[in-house]
Amino acid sequence: MAGTLHSPIDERPTGLDDPAASTFWRRPGVPLAALGLAGFLAVVALWSQPLAVLAVAIVLAAGLAAVVRERAVTSHEAERRVEAEHVARILQGLSRSASSDGIAAALIADLPAGTGADHTVVVRYRAEDHALDATLAGARPGDPTTTTRLPASDLDPDGAGGTDVTDRLEARVRTEFALTNTLVAPLRTARGVTGVIVLARRTEEPWPASARRVLQAAALEAAAALDRVESHRAAEANASTDVLTGLPNRRYFDEFSGLLAGRRRADDGVGILMIDIDHFKRINDRFGHDAGDAVLRAIAGAIAGAVREGDVPARFGGEEFVILLRDPSRAVALEVAERVRAAVAALDLRAVGPAEQTVSVGVAVQAVPGEPIDDLLAAADRALYRAKRAGRDRVVAA
Ligand code: GH3
Ligand code: MG
Ligand code: MG
Repeated sequence: MAGTLHSPIDERPTGLDDPAASTFWRRPGVPLAALGLAGFLAVVALWSQPLAVLAVAIVLAAGLAAVVRERAVTSHEAERRVEAEHVARILQGLSRSASSDGIAAALIADLPAGTGADHTVVVRYRAEDHALDATLAGARPGDPTTTTRLPASDLDPDGAGGTDVTDRLEARVRTEFALTNTLVAPLRTARGVTGVIVLARRTEEPWPASARRVLQAAALEAAAALDRVESHRAAEANASTDVLTGLPNRRYFDEFSGLLAGRRRADDGVGILMIDIDHFKRINDRFGHDAGDAVLRAIAGAIAGAVREGDVPARFGGEEFVILLRDPSRAVALEVAERVRAAVAALDLRAVGPAEQTVSVGVAVQAVPGEPIDDLLAAADRALYRAKRAGRDRVVAA
């Protein structure tokens, strides 16, 4: 077994784990009683010699002090061990979180036990909607969780009279949720302080030092986890392909239509098909999110297969797709839409779960030359809404 190293493992118990040591110190009465008896005999025998009595008294005092100290060390080490276990649990929860909401949920679940807080508030900036959200939860499992939007200007390092961002957010949380005895730690990410964790207690009892240490460790790790989530999100937003379906994504679609608008001649027309899966939520609810994802992939495949080269299909958002058609007549746009609808309805997805799945399609074709694509998107969306109202699984033109 080349390359494998076998090092001998010393399995002897060490320090306080050594049963001999722990028995000795856990029952300090035995050695102390022996010491006391020896001292008593020495005092009786040497009563007439004050210096000897003093020496015995010093030995006894030293023995007592050693036992007391050892007890204190043992209980301190036990506290540290419990604290380390709490921190480990928090880190484990955070390492499993792949979203900002997941990180907040992990902190809310694990911080109270390690800190003795009755309430946990996680304030974090969410870049995807430029919002500062504060999530408050009680310590008991099943306590309701409330999320409130705070002014994002609280994060401005130069804002509000130059107060520190962490202090400002703590003050904001105290007023927002009427909390008094609070403990705060900043979430310091690559972009500076982008949030805080605030713990609160109903009593005025001071916070133990261990609560402060657990909170600090959790905040450091949570900030690192938020950084990971954010760089992943940014990388995804920068790519032009939707990871789940392999279709071009919304970003690509917007960029493409922007370029097209700049290049278009007055007589080049554009058509938009807006496609939304019918009752998709039920598929997720009945068969699970993974089955939902498989259905999304299959429908994306059907859509891609129903268009010509030069047309641009894209995943527009959740369970919505869009197709940009180059220079279609109204009749051609309706024909493509109907082809898409029929291709989806013909899919056999019983292996995945649902026995049938349909889409509704809204169609909009440029009526006047130069009409902005955004207006077409809005018109197609209104037509889609009418298709839903009319019973779904159908095509409606603007
Ligand atoms: P309607 O016919 O009115 O469109 O009903 P619906 O259920 O399709 O519409 P609704 O907007 O209520 O629900 C859309 C669902 O799509 C909710 C959301 O969880 C789900 N969804 C969005 N994106 C994804 C995804 O990437 N994967 C999965 N599995 N589900 C998704
Ligand atoms: Mg929808
Ligand atoms: Mg839908």
